[in-house]
Parts: sequence; structure tokens; C-alpha cells
Amino acid sequence: VQKCYLSGPVKESDMEVVMSDTVELALPAGSTAVIVQNLCISIDPWNLTLMAKKDASGLTSAPLTVLTGYGVAKVVVSGHNDFKVGDLVWGITGWEEYSLISDPNSLFKINHTDLPLSYYTGILGMPGLTAYAGFYEICAPKKGEFVFVSAASGAVGQLVGQFAKLTGCYVVGSAGSDEKVTLLKEKFGFDDAFNYKKEQDLNATLKRCFPEGIDIYFENVGGAMLDAVLLNMRNYGRIATCGMVSQYNLEKPEGVHNLINILWKRLRMEGFVVLDHYSKYRKFEEMVVQHLKSGKITYVEDIAEGLESAPTALVGLFKGKNVGKQLVVIARE
Ligand code: NDP
Repeated sequence: VQKCYLSGPVKESDMEVVMSDTVELALPAGSTAVIVQNLCISIDPWNLTLMAKKDASGLTSAPLTVLTGYGVAKVVVSGHNDFKVGDLVWGITGWEEYSLISDPNSLFKINHTDLPLSYYTGILGMPGLTAYAGFYEICAPKKGEFVFVSAASGAVGQLVGQFAKLTGCYVVGSAGSDEKVTLLKEKFGFDDAFNYKKEQDLNATLKRCFPEGIDIYFENVGGAMLDAVLLNMRNYGRIATCGMVSQYNLEKPEGVHNLINILWKRLRMEGFVVLDHYSKYRKFEEMVVQHLKSGKITYVEDIAEGLESAPTALVGLFKGKNVGKQLVVIARE
């Protein structure tokens, strides 16, 4: 899948599926690269930021290059001592059947092949580590605290909610459909949840859900939700700014009006980027694998088949079409 120019909200026609008759599965002598066969690709809001944009000064990056993103893959040719043919890995790859990875040190080897490989695009991959670092480090949660998670049924949110329950917090999630609300309460064990698209007044909704206020807000959406949350935070509350998906497709981000509450309520609002937390990956992985195997944590995926479904899957993220972690299966092991 190649990227064309992005102008306005992302749409399928911003991407192009290109067929190639041949693929060269060979490395030049002395190369330390690997060639991988991509098995699954992860569809993330972040992919949008990698697409070329038109702006007032012209084009910001070259079009018609293969889209990149996270994926699960199998090594098919190796010039690197640490990787052998057949190794399963996850990391940054291309939205294509085979990719050349010039720096294999950027890849993580997959150790737990008894779990679904697709989990390494989500709960055991980048979104999972995001939930872990954001919740445990940035939010610094304590038992009994009141936690609110937006985009709660998605790749990151569903795990944050379950971490909050494991910590002994009271947790409420917001999502964009009744089906997702049911999932939050019945599958992931959220104490309460609401469909934000059906609520007229988000401030009143949050007051209803949190009569005593919110200690921790795990921010995934930004915009009007953030404004309403700021009115409902408790003194010394923490906001982990993980993402602002409601803003990514806007030409001009919306204003936030209630920032003064950060001062009055002595709040800490902190952004974080998962790339800075990769050193914790193996510790995180062992914890989550244990919880998955003992049934304390569960995960829901939304799986599309075939590379040609990737553009629709990406566009769907910004319309809330995905129910759980969105990924695309390209090939099976
Ligand atoms: P999700 O699986 O949650 O998919 C995106 C969801 O966002 C959609 O399903 C939809 O859910 C919701 N959404 C889409 N458009 C809007 C909108 N206009 N207003 C409100 N909600 C909207 O994605 P992820 O779990 O992968 O990502 C969640 C957040 O985490 C994103 O903001 C992402 O950018 C961020 N992130 C940050 C990282 C970091 O390093 N800081 C790393 C990874 C992700 P619904 O139906 O509920 O509206």
C-alpha cells in the first residue's frame, strides 16, 4: 500500500494498492539487513502522521512511497547474526508483503508463540506498552482512585481499563457506540461506561459517573472531552496525555477552554511517547503474558483480511468503525 497526498480528513483514495510481479528476496554480500515476510500489520492512528500532506508551502514529503507502520513478520533472509531465517519478530515494517529491514536491531523477537501472533500488533506490542507506560508510570495510580479512560474500547484503552481494575481503581470508559459500551462493562470489567455520541452535555455525564470527581484521566481523544474532564478533576489529579485522536484529522485543532483548572486543582498533565519506554518492553511483556494466560486480562481484536483492506481499515479508525484493536492479516504462518 502506497501513500499519496493527504488533504483534509483521510480517505481511501489517499492510498493506493500497487501490485508487483516480482519480489527480490536477496541481500547484497556483507549486508546486515534482514528481509521479512509481513504476516500482520497494525492499523494505528499514528499512521496518519506518516502520510504526505499538502500545505501552503507545497508538498511536505514525497508521495508514492510504501506506508510504514508496526507489524508482525517472519525473517526469510538474514544478513544479521542475531536473526535467523524463520524467526518471528515485531516492529516497524512496511504495508507490503515483504520488507527490507535495514536496521534489524529495531525489531523485537517474539518469544511467546503459543499466544496469537496478532497480539504483537496490540496487547503485546506497541499499544500494549503504551497502556503500561502511560498508566503505571505517568498516572502513578493508587488503589481506590477514580479513573476515566476515553476511546476506552480501542487498542490502548481496553488495556488501560483492565490495568486500572487490577490496581483496585474505580474505572469508567467512554466509547462511540452502544456495542462498545457493552464490551467495556461485560468483557473488560469497567465499573461503568457511556456512549459519548449520545450524551448532550459531557460535563453533566462525567458528574453523573464521578460524583466525587476524577483522580486519573487517561487521555486518548482531546477536544470537547478534555474540556469536560478538566471541570471534573479532583485536586492533585493526573492526566496522561496519550493521544488526541479527535484532532488529527482537523485542519486546525480545537481550542481547550478549561485549562485554568490545572492551576486551581493542582493537576499534573503529562504527555508521553511510547518510543521512550522501549527499555521496559520485556518486563511489560512478561507481566501481560502471565495475566493473559491466567485469564486476568483479555483482549479484543478487529481483524481485516488482506493488504487491500488496509486503507479502509485506517479510514475506519477515525470513524470509530473498529471494535477493539484494528489489524490486517496479510499472510498466515
Ligand atoms: P483505537 O483502537 O482506540 O482506535 C481509535 C478510536 O478513536 C476509534 O475506534 C474511535 O473510537 C476513536 N475516535 C476516532 N475519532 C474520534 C473522534 N473524532 N472523537 C473521539 N473519538 C474518536 O486507537 P489506539 O488505541 O491505537 O489509540 C488510542 C490513542 O492513543 C490515540 O489517540 C493514539 O494516537 C494514541 N497513541 C499514543 C501513543 C503514544 O506513544 N503516546 C502510542 C499509541 C497510541 P470510538 O468509537 O470510541 O469513538
